[in-house]
Amino acid sequence: MKTIAILGSTGSIGTQTLEVVRANGDIRVAALSAGRNIRLLEQQIREFRPRIAAVWDEKDAGTLRTAVADLGVKVLCGMDGLRETAVCAEAQILVTAIVGMIGIVPTIDAIRAGKDIALANKETLVTAGHIIMPLAQECGVRILPVDSEHSAIFQSLNGEDRRQIDRILLTASGGPFRGMTSAQLAQVKLEDALKHPNWAMGQKITIDSASMVNKGLEVMEARWLFGTELSQIQVVVQPQSIIHSMVQFKDGAVIAQLGTPDMKLPIQYALYYPERRFLAGEQLDFAKIGSIAFEDPDVETFAGLKYAFEAAAQGGSMPTVFNAANECAVARFLKRRIGFTDIYRIIRYCMDRHTVIPSPDVEQILETEQSVYEMIESRW
Ligand code: NDP
Repeated sequence: MKTIAILGSTGSIGTQTLEVVRANGDIRVAALSAGRNIRLLEQQIREFRPRIAAVWDEKDAGTLRTAVADLGVKVLCGMDGLRETAVCAEAQILVTAIVGMIGIVPTIDAIRAGKDIALANKETLVTAGHIIMPLAQECGVRILPVDSEHSAIFQSLNGEDRRQIDRILLTASGGPFRGMTSAQLAQVKLEDALKHPNWAMGQKITIDSASMVNKGLEVMEARWLFGTELSQIQVVVQPQSIIHSMVQFKDGAVIAQLGTPDMKLPIQYALYYPERRFLAGEQLDFAKIGSIAFEDPDVETFAGLKYAFEAAAQGGSMPTVFNAANECAVARFLKRRIGFTDIYRIIRYCMDRHTVIPSPDVEQILETEQSVYEMIESRW
């Protein structure tokens, strides 16, 4: 029986991971961690009976401890709780379904402890890919992508020689604002940005998808996961989200993975890799789909994607600046403190004021994150 631990079990990816566990019935859950949603975490603890449960806040931990006193679960809090979840002795796989750069340190701990990583938390690779990937290799652990595009690339590469990759064709839906002009984009409302045409996801990634910053983060993630050059990654807009991504090989052949937009497929594939399992739900009906459309992304209007390529090309600490500036800007947009296109303005402002640290260690990455937050705090 496989045993897993989950960082971020109460979120969109976390709850879908537990749905996969529930449907299959042969995975044990040894540790769960959440942020503030202790009511849902309590339900999860009662159903899956982990040995460890962690929340962010100390007071919440006290409340939860009392609530689950009958179960003998060890309740922890803060970064220590995340780190203990990550290295939980019984687990072979850590699912990183937490949002933000807070995932870096526990993910590194888990790799050092020999756990395979089912990686949803893309911020970890975006900012610390130069640390994570060599460490994973050194420790003999697998980084199994959960992001649907990266899972599609991973599936398309099954049994292939990676040296034969010509390019990665990373597909994008284009989000709810595809086709808009810059002037129109500046007027969009929070409610509109939270309506993704194809995928149901957490709030932050939904905004990132609308701004196409998410695609930029995925470009950086893909580069680390598959060891390609930035110039070998091309973003292709495919509005229906049927093709989850493709790989073009040197002989011109293109291999793609297609499916309905359901995150349970990449989650299950990562948990059971290389085995495939039955997955209940809708299947593709090609006659009903009729046709699949493609277009180039509009990187002038959706400038976040252009900035992402620029940050990736500069490398070092610049992807951290890109990511941290975006995290901070999105948090402000979610509170209606700034407009939608201010997200791009804030990213640009921070990137223009940063001097790149070539190969930052974890401390420098976290310091860079902090300095970006301070830069934004003093102005927005
Ligand atoms: P959600 O916002 O839905 O969930 C985030 C999870 O992280 C929640 O369990 C939340 O806890 C927890 N969390 C947040 N802050 C803290 C903290 N300080 N300490 C401990 N736990 C914390 O996000 P998603 O599930 O959408 O995304 C998770 C990651 O997966 C992101 O990196 C995202 O980019 C990536 N991803 C998501 C996809 C999706 O379809 N949703 C697709 C591909 C990648 P709580 O809610 O209890 O506060």
